[in-house]
Amino acid sequence: MEENDKLPSSSGTDTVQSKEKKYMQKFKSSWLENPDFKHWLKRSDKGETKAYCKLCDCHITCGMSELLRHQKSAKHVKQIAVTSKYGNMTSFLSGHLNSTNKALEMELKICGFLAKHD
Ligand SMILES: [Zn+2]
Repeated sequence: MEENDKLPSSSGTDTVQSKEKKYMQKFKSSWLENPDFKHWLKRSDKGETKAYCKLCDCHITCGMSELLRHQKSAKHVKQIAVTSKYGNMTSFLSGHLNSTNKALEMELKICGFLAKHD
């Protein structure tokens, strides 16, 4: 009597499907609305899985953690500091220019007056 038991146990040998394969996050347009990213984030022209930082002029791998990491990187923080400084300066100047100018004018007039008076 021959039992042709060719098949071993078929179950139990499930190959773990491509666990090694890295999941590539594609650029999400919703990131552009994220208040943390929208000031510097752009779609990259290097591919769907890349993002671009306007401030640092560099391409970042897509992914929330990657973006957050980039956002905290020294290079990026420095760029933010520089640009926000300028941004604040211009809004500060345009907002306060008139009153500052008037005060300055007054001061100059007083100085002139005093100078003349003396
Ligand atoms: Zn950056």
